Amino acid sequence: MVQASDAGDDPSAGTLPSEFALIARYFAPLARRFPGAYGLRDDVAVIAPSPGAELVVKSDAVICGVHVLPDDPPDLVARKALRMNLSDLAAKGAAPRAYLLDLMLPRATTEEWIASFARGLAQDQAEFGVDLIGGDTDATPGPLTVAIMALGEVPAGRVLRRGGACAGDALFVTGTIGDAALGLAALRGAASGLDPASVAWLADRYRLPQPRVALGPRLIGVATAALDVSDGLVADLGHLCEASNLDAIVDGGRIPLSPAARAAIANDPARLTIALTGGDDYEIVFAAPPAACGTIAALAEATRTPVTEIGRLAAPQPGAPPAVTVRDSSGAPYAFSSTGWTHFGRGRG
Ligand code: ADP
Ligand code: MG
Repeated sequence: MVQASDAGDDPSAGTLPSEFALIARYFAPLARRFPGAYGLRDDVAVIAPSPGAELVVKSDAVICGVHVLPDDPPDLVARKALRMNLSDLAAKGAAPRAYLLDLMLPRATTEEWIASFARGLAQDQAEFGVDLIGGDTDATPGPLTVAIMALGEVPAGRVLRRGGACAGDALFVTGTIGDAALGLAALRGAASGLDPASVAWLADRYRLPQPRVALGPRLIGVATAALDVSDGLVADLGHLCEASNLDAIVDGGRIPLSPAARAAIANDPARLTIALTGGDDYEIVFAAPPAACGTIAALAEATRTPVTEIGRLAAPQPGAPPAVTVRDSSGAPYAFSSTGWTHFGRGRG
């Protein structure tokens, strides 16, 4: 398609080479292992699911100023954009295979920025076993935008859904919760009482999520419902409850917090709300029958993924919508001023 604003067509473009040169130089090398990508020298890529498998697809965009900060290192921007998508696949039980990359570049972008961005992708391709198979490259008058679409595979008919959990199922979450939200707050200056090492650690959790790709596919046949925690634990658990038509009762004291998050909250208890309702965790929350606890512990160990049981699902109160209750050590429910990140409306849901 002819685009008046394609960098290569616009005489006012900056110092970047044409998008064709950029693709050949920086992106084609990331596609060379995948035969159906045709070296990014055709219009499309071709991908066949493995026998007995279905493709699972997801796209997620990273917008500078919304999901990443303007001075975030380009390799980390790339890796975060890819990992956000891999996290969704993992939460659905899908093993990652390939991804497409739509890159909207402000004219001031430098070639060094793109080189570093591509190096970040190469690093994560090696770590997660995925290949770039296509995309689009454009100049934009707006902020830098990186849209990635990831493709994964599950055995046909076995994708993990948000619905399907049963009353009495136990609730589990991977990793630790709230680090990224506390890290972002610290990067924005709300770091009072935190030592520099904790700030750096929390900021790293914000910039470089750890998608649970090893555990996710192993949850098929074990978890009754699952989703990735990207908009805050309380809000995302609410989505599972809504889809499964169940209440969640979470034991607040069991929610896994990192030492840095604990220190931050000890310093200012209001930070607990940020931790439990902030976004960008990219962990998996899932339900499973209590009898599966042993299996889950074994999977956690085999995949080196921390997994913590945090509560139970129960039939909802008659006439009331499904709800998430987080209880403190005395059994009293926490009251949150917000339940999660939303882009529209009031900003915080
Ligand atoms: P079109 O003109 O149809 O938009 P392009 O010339 O932009 O096609 O793309 C040529 C080839 O390069 C296609 O195979 C496309 O998938 C691939 N491609 C373009 N941009 C990227 C990118 N940022 N990352 C990966 N592949 C890309
Ligand atoms: Mg194009």
